[in-house]
Amino acid sequence: MEDTVFWKIVRKEIPAQVVYEDDETLAFLDIAPVTLGHTLVIPKKPFVNIFDIDQETLARVIETVRKVAPIVRDATGALGVHINSNHGEEAGQVVPHLHFHIIPRHVRDGFEFWPKIDCSEEEMDAVAEKIRAGISF
Ligand code: AMP
Repeated sequence: MEDTVFWKIVRKEIPAQVVYEDDETLAFLDIAPVTLGHTLVIPKKPFVNIFDIDQETLARVIETVRKVAPIVRDATGALGVHINSNHGEEAGQVVPHLHFHIIPRHVRDGFEFWPKIDCSEEEMDAVAEKIRAGISF
């Protein structure tokens, strides 16, 4: 298991602006916010990402996101929030401890996302078929 900054925050070895905590989850301010109030929600157990976390723990994390998101929105006077989560280094995950970003959004806040690609109907059909073929639940 990699000893990440978030695992250190859980163990209270380094400080964080914790805004919510329960037995399984923790919410704290991102140290480099996209907008003011940018909050991270993590499981206390050090799962890396969506590919190794169990269903029950993920449900608890999502429940904390659901409860904290409107409070972050209201506390920052935002109109909405962007909820994002990166899974895998290539997908932009820098800290290998699962986390959801709750980013307050304002009109013209400078946060731009995301690029669109051009792809054919055949490519869409083929990728949908591959995904369907992989589903066994
Ligand atoms: P990601 O790219 O999805 O892995 O995001 C990692 C996030 O963790 C970034 O937005 C960082 O600003 C944030 N971060 C890194 N170190 C800390 C820390 N010590 N306290 C709070 N947030 C942190």
